[in-house]
Amino acid sequence: MNTAELLKFDREHLWHPYTSTIDPLPVYPVKRAEGVYIELEDGTRLIDGMSSWWCMVHGYNHPAMNAAIEEQVRSMSHVMFGGLTHRPAVELAGKLVEMLPAGIEKIFYCDSGSVAVEVAMKMALQYWYASGREEKRHFMTITKGYHGDTWNAMSVCDPVTGMHSIFRGSLPMQYFVHRPEARYGEVCMEEHIGEFKQCLRNNHNRIAAVILEPIVQGAGGMWFYSADYLRQVRELCSQYDVLLICDEIATGFGRTGKMWGGDHAGIVPDIMCIGKALTGGYMSFAATMTTGKVATRICSKDPGVFMHGPTFMGNPLACAAANASLDLIRSYDLAEMTGRIEAQLRAELLPAREFSNVADVRVLGTIGVVELKEPVNMALVQAACVKEGVWIRPFGKLVYVMPPYIIREWELKRLTTAMLHVISMFK
Ligand SMILES: *Cc1c(COP(=O)(O)O)cnc(C)c1O
Repeated sequence: MNTAELLKFDREHLWHPYTSTIDPLPVYPVKRAEGVYIELEDGTRLIDGMSSWWCMVHGYNHPAMNAAIEEQVRSMSHVMFGGLTHRPAVELAGKLVEMLPAGIEKIFYCDSGSVAVEVAMKMALQYWYASGREEKRHFMTITKGYHGDTWNAMSVCDPVTGMHSIFRGSLPMQYFVHRPEARYGEVCMEEHIGEFKQCLRNNHNRIAAVILEPIVQGAGGMWFYSADYLRQVRELCSQYDVLLICDEIATGFGRTGKMWGGDHAGIVPDIMCIGKALTGGYMSFAATMTTGKVATRICSKDPGVFMHGPTFMGNPLACAAANASLDLIRSYDLAEMTGRIEAQLRAELLPAREFSNVADVRVLGTIGVVELKEPVNMALVQAACVKEGVWIRPFGKLVYVMPPYIIREWELKRLTTAMLHVISMFK
């Protein structure tokens, strides 16, 4: 198959994320990838600004990651987790327990981020079931969130961008309040938290848990909000006897400049989800974790077990990838590494505030966002970026980057220069 035939077959038979089969946007064929570079079939090399959707933090084709997976493949790629266990799974749990916020100690391995969110929501429901409070069966969240594409995860995604209207009637009804308008670094005033407080006060008897992405809302709007707001959310959840689920799938492992998004507010959730960068982007894998208190309550009442158990739970290859990824994370001076990227993103992106088509520029940790006044034409912007030698995939009004942590100064400079150049082309 030559490249043209490959693209033709792709167009006729393959569904890409959020894409039409009748009139799909163009896709670019990738031959290989190395470090921060994605190489296309025609030899074009692109600097990856997306970390393949938050996950490829150590870069592509990393020797230590490759070696860990090759070694694991030679002993076993998979065994069932029911009734069996293995070193990769236990070692990974050991590393996680050391890194997690104090008190989070019971770990459930999942196959993807969306599944981790489903599992978290089931844990919350089973906790209240075991507590004899079955009426607490709904969830509360903030708008502009994103928690995955499966059923219950989708029910707590933003109702507009998550297209709840299409699924009305079969999607569980949840409680929504507006996303916090207090920005990162700002104090949260009564006017910012009032609606949240009132919703919780009125409905806490029906609410099992509050679920949100701590500090950074990702795919729902790339919004960075006040740590003080998050701190108050934690206090209110405790006060009203509602569990707090932190979805750290995008924010975890240093992306926001601290190990966990919740660290900005010094909070510990009751249930926590991780994924994406967990395996350094090598395989689909995730985990849902909770406190001893929640786990014990769930298992202390009929049926005495937590009712979930996917086929590929604790997959040894995925655990080996995660072990290698966490070894790398722990070997980095994460604060220095992410701080350097943050400072450079700030210096090089903030000038775009002066552009006539730009509404806002914001940077936190290794995430740089330029919000435009109008939605972009994705196909045109993407083609212009590829021409500039960078890989950036905007959505709506948002053009953003979150590069691999290993990116070098001059590579990041090329990325931000291309980003601003392309934005100014569409003024
Ligand atoms: C990506 C993401 C998910 C879903 O993870 P998948 O692995 O794509 O299922 C859930 N929550 C957040 C915050 C995410 O960014």
